[in-house]
Amino acid sequence: MGDRYLDRLNDAQRAAVTHGVAQGTTTGAPPLLVIAGAGSGKTSTLAHRVAHLIVNGADPRRILLMTFSRRASAEMARRVGRICAQVLGNRAGPMADALAWTGTFHGIGARIIRAHAEQIGLDPAFSIHDREDSADLMNLTRHELGFSKTESRFPTKNTCLAIYSRAINAEQPLGDVLLKHYPWCAGWQEQLKTLFGAYVAAKQAQNVLDYDDLLLVWAQMMGDPVLAAQIGDTWDHVLVDEYQDTNRLQATILLGMKPDGTGMTVVGDDAQSIYAFRSATVRNILDFPSAFPIPATVLTLDRNYRSTQPILAAANAVIEQASERFAKTLWTDRESEALPRLVCVKDDADQARYIVQRVLEEREQGTALKQQAVLFRASHHSGSLEVELTRHNIPFVKFGGLKFLDSAHVKDVLAMLRFAENPRDRVAGFRVMQLLPGVGPTSARRVLDAMQATPDPLATLAHATPPARAGAGWTGFVAMTQGLRTRTAGWPSEIGLIRHWYEPHLERLHEGAATRLADLRQLEQIAGGYPSRERFLTDLTLDPPDATSDQAGVPRLDEDYLILSTIHSAKGQEWRGVFVLNTVDGCIPSDLGTGETEEIDEERRLLYVAMTRARDSLDLIVPQRFHIHGQHGLGDRHVYAARTRFIGQDMLPLFETRAWPLVPPEDATRQEAARQVRIDMAARLRAMWK
Ligand code: ATP
Ligand code: MG
Repeated sequence: MGDRYLDRLNDAQRAAVTHGVAQGTTTGAPPLLVIAGAGSGKTSTLAHRVAHLIVNGADPRRILLMTFSRRASAEMARRVGRICAQVLGNRAGPMADALAWTGTFHGIGARIIRAHAEQIGLDPAFSIHDREDSADLMNLTRHELGFSKTESRFPTKNTCLAIYSRAINAEQPLGDVLLKHYPWCAGWQEQLKTLFGAYVAAKQAQNVLDYDDLLLVWAQMMGDPVLAAQIGDTWDHVLVDEYQDTNRLQATILLGMKPDGTGMTVVGDDAQSIYAFRSATVRNILDFPSAFPIPATVLTLDRNYRSTQPILAAANAVIEQASERFAKTLWTDRESEALPRLVCVKDDADQARYIVQRVLEEREQGTALKQQAVLFRASHHSGSLEVELTRHNIPFVKFGGLKFLDSAHVKDVLAMLRFAENPRDRVAGFRVMQLLPGVGPTSARRVLDAMQATPDPLATLAHATPPARAGAGWTGFVAMTQGLRTRTAGWPSEIGLIRHWYEPHLERLHEGAATRLADLRQLEQIAGGYPSRERFLTDLTLDPPDATSDQAGVPRLDEDYLILSTIHSAKGQEWRGVFVLNTVDGCIPSDLGTGETEEIDEERRLLYVAMTRARDSLDLIVPQRFHIHGQHGLGDRHVYAARTRFIGQDMLPLFETRAWPLVPPEDATRQEAARQVRIDMAARLRAMWK
């Protein structure tokens, strides 16, 4: 039986899979880069390579496999397991399970930092702040420095965080980041410097790391030759998917792990690089071949196995006009008569109705909901669609949008857990204390200040004078914190305990207690899937479950549901049917950018990524009226929109163009006139109120 899995691969894929693996030895392979277009099998080649290594005797515990999301890691581990099982039979189970080091850069970073924390003088019980927590801490710090009070136009907490994050991830001086990306904030450079200094000090004092720190601290560790060698020696093989979307810090980390490049495999596609706004740089992938003392082997794959020929032709036409790219052409033998559709609708509401109709049609023809996805640029673009789907009882799951953890009640419960785990975490403490009746920001701050100043913050909490108006609630809270600290209930029962403690507060704090309680029960179930509290907190913070049509929670696996996803979160995935919302100028490309060629190119790649998710059917929707959410002081408004400039007149023959709904022309004119009157009325009313 042996190597049958290799027979399924094409020659270039096989070369990548078997690269540097000889009879009996798997280690010491020269660095390998696979750079290839969408759907050419990069991810599947990577999975085959991992399996091939294991089958040939590599120790799975010594393989590090980094992907773009936790979902992608799980999928990858499953594929590896399946191939190993085919070859190794019964012996495969333990092998694939031992593939312990799969995850995202941030997730792996958290584990590495915890494991080596003491060596760099960090308390391993650090907590991790998600973006919202980080923004909250930035805000607290801003207030404490008095910036937001004296200067009403001081950048918002989110802008401050974005600037800070960019400077860190791009490894660029603050002044440069401000000039290039936030020129309107450049006047605040000195204050921002002070703010960021204070923010860093606050994180240190509270023993918290934010997302950026997970990369930053890891990169700093790699700067110490002894520690770097120790970390690098944890693995014989380091493999990375979607390498085009890594930033400079990630490259520093990666290259530091194997300075000679042996055992290193990265795969990616420069044409799909869509994270420049988070400082990802396509240079990483282009520079990889010459990053080591021995040159890397570079392989390209040119056969697309995913999409039908007409879909691929349209996607290729879009990307061909990019001003800069590593030229590759893709071909497929998946012939089809069906051209991708370019559908003109009136507005957002019609766009939603069209999708519902088409999704149901596709389902009638045998494409399950799960095999279809609706993609959009920004999470709020799917609002009308979500309403329309709900009206038609079509279940859906939304990726990359509002997360389960974003709901206030779930955050409350997790804040309690985090506070017990790390009582110095001020954002968690601040949130959880104010759940209690009679405790406001001032008294919470007083207690937290006292806790900050002592070596044993929990003892200080226990002996603190309770805020004057806090009754028995305070005692219960202190007992809860101590119980969690000593882990009396054990994992995961403690989540149940917190729920019981929280229940009486829930009704007072939030509306809709019943559904929220159901969410919390769901949280208990999710917790049950994690081996430890610490792993649960880390994983949930870094990559939380997605929201579903039932408001929250994870979908049951046996259910059929439609996928709603931002284009960014759809990376690497594929569906039989794909719908892209708002394929108009002003959305793709966005009108918020500077219009520089670099940015426009990234927008083009975004459309390319969206289109190349489709296997058999692709609908690009062009609403004539596009709703723009208020930005830069302008209110919400509708604009008349035109088809995206990335699909020029000369490309129209590659599409089937249609207008929907098909109304007789005189009817359409009448409807349009009526609508126009309504819109004018609304505008006039707004003008009167101003
Ligand atoms: P993306 O750039 O979107 O991440 P990719 O290059 O990673 O795409 P994969 O997702 O690995 O591509 O593969 C695309 C599809 O092609 C998958 O359905 C995969 O199973 C299929 N595929 C890959 N290689 C082969 C092959 N040799 N024979 C048949 N199908 C293949
Ligand atoms: Mg892939």
